[in-house]
Amino acid sequence: MGDKGKYYITTPIYYPSDKLHIGHAYTSTIADSIARWHRFNGKDVLFLTGSDEHGQKIERIATSLGVEPKAYVDRIVGTFKTLWDKYDISYDDFVRTTEDRHHKVVQEVFRRIYAKGDIYKDTYEGWYCTPCEAFWLENKLVDGRCPDCGRPVELVKEESYFFRQSKYADRLLQHIENNPEFIRPESRRNEMVNFIKSGLEDLCVSRTTFDWGIPVPIDEGHVIYVWFDALTNYLTGAGFLDDDAAFDRYWPADLHLVGKEIVRFHTIIWPIILMALDLPLPKTVFGHGWLLFGQDKMSKSKGNVVDPMELADEFGVDAVRYFLLREISFGQDGSFTRQALIDRVNADLANDLGNLLHRSVAMILRYRDGVIPETGPLTKLEKEVQELAGITAREVGRHIEALELNAALSAIWRLVGRANKYIDEAEPWSLNKAGNSQRLDTVLYHLGEILRILALLIKSFLPTTGSKIWAQLGIGDDLELTTFADTRWGGLKPGTRVKKGDPIFPRIEIDAVNEVEDVAAPDNRQKAGGEESMEKVASSDKPLVSIDDFAKLDLRVAKIKAAEPVSGADRLLKLQIEIGDEERQIVAGIAQHYQPDELVGKQIVVVANLKPAKVRGVVSEGMLLAASTADNLSLVTIEKDLPSGARVK
Ligand SMILES: [Zn+2]
Repeated sequence: MGDKGKYYITTPIYYPSDKLHIGHAYTSTIADSIARWHRFNGKDVLFLTGSDEHGQKIERIATSLGVEPKAYVDRIVGTFKTLWDKYDISYDDFVRTTEDRHHKVVQEVFRRIYAKGDIYKDTYEGWYCTPCEAFWLENKLVDGRCPDCGRPVELVKEESYFFRQSKYADRLLQHIENNPEFIRPESRRNEMVNFIKSGLEDLCVSRTTFDWGIPVPIDEGHVIYVWFDALTNYLTGAGFLDDDAAFDRYWPADLHLVGKEIVRFHTIIWPIILMALDLPLPKTVFGHGWLLFGQDKMSKSKGNVVDPMELADEFGVDAVRYFLLREISFGQDGSFTRQALIDRVNADLANDLGNLLHRSVAMILRYRDGVIPETGPLTKLEKEVQELAGITAREVGRHIEALELNAALSAIWRLVGRANKYIDEAEPWSLNKAGNSQRLDTVLYHLGEILRILALLIKSFLPTTGSKIWAQLGIGDDLELTTFADTRWGGLKPGTRVKKGDPIFPRIEIDAVNEVEDVAAPDNRQKAGGEESMEKVASSDKPLVSIDDFAKLDLRVAKIKAAEPVSGADRLLKLQIEIGDEERQIVAGIAQHYQPDELVGKQIVVVANLKPAKVRGVVSEGMLLAASTADNLSLVTIEKDLPSGARVK
């Protein structure tokens, strides 16, 4: 096998001051998908993650808990590893900054830069934000507080070692200008350029007022500044000082994936450390956006942290991975809500992908006793789906190169959609009825082959799902060992025996209109969180009601006057309805089952006295009735023509 080159990708090393939230799982899931994709393309991948364990903040937390800092971080770091196992994060190495191998690297880096004359001793007098572990000059503070996090800063005056950052400012600006790929996305690049141009001070790189850190090698009373220590993990993980062959192969990193709040450390301090060491700079630092919960950044103090472990237990890891990768435009802030997650699972995973697999395997079992047939002559339809499969594979590759993960998934789901449409167009059941055996063979082969290609394209993003599709297709080869070349059309061998399996994504049965904000009480924060309003109720569990309870509902015949999609919510339609001489607007989760045009003029049944609510920001004054199964939905209508406003009882 030829050398396809290497790919070195890193996550930030996470800080063990708190439990990990869904935002951390977001970063690691992205890094994992990119790493898996490059392995699939035959690259020699090094995927690094780890934990950032030193600093004043950790020391204070540990002290407040009455434990040694090391005992404190050991426990927390254990939970990181459990979470990454749960999320199928395929990291190759995990650097803990408390490890000896890292300790050695940090001290040597410090020693080399000191020997070069780029670290010198002076007195630091200024401000320090302990939560951010960041130094600030008076003129950078905002209202006397940390400009990054808005929290109070502390005045620090101590003897310190300083790193001559200022000396490298012009060279760094030049590098950023010559290498547009270095800081991405572009908005962050512009921010950083402005920051550097506003003047770069020398950086304080040692502290004397606490102990929890790596000692300065030439002056044991000092500990090395925690960011200087942490950033260096990317060298440790690549084998710096330890394995020259590995280091020569993997360094520089191809991609440092970081949250936008730490782009500054990675695109100013880090490259300057590397310049001072005469090492090449990483190719790209990508600052992704935050996962917001409603409008706020998730944080423990706001009480809106979503526990990624509980979420994976409830919905399954691949459902959560899919949501994170698909829903959020990479680089921008994204919003997490349970309803959006449920919508994605039901629409894309249960309906589109799950049904495609289920229908195809069921038909191969029913019509061909589970054996993949030989294909016969192709029609225009088969040529079309074959061509789209090829285009999709190449497009996914291009999107990953461009770090557009959501676009990669939407390309894959376009093929899923096309395959479902192909079933409807080719009508295997009619071919079977008509005894058109050769044509039926062709259609069934094509369905199996599209699914095989989908398993290959999906496995980097949803590893378990890829394996499940593979298993149902009955392909014996190890999915792990497949490569991109296997996505070429025709890999499925006739004679392969498919296996009936469970639905890969059971539909989550929660009514779309359950998660609503009460218009009468718009500041009901509990409800905005979605947790309380999302009871799962199976129909058989409902208690008996009296006729009086039922009589409380005002059910009316309504006529649909107009219908349109709700932007940003692909399950919802906004309907203008007429109830007698009253006009109202309602929002209904039926977009997957009805086109807006076919609804106009229909007579439906609505609950007319439902309290008004907001669904995805759109006011809804009532609710329509519909019957549904796992994959189908039908509006409840009336058998004879009656005027709108007529009572239903
Ligand atoms: Zn701060």
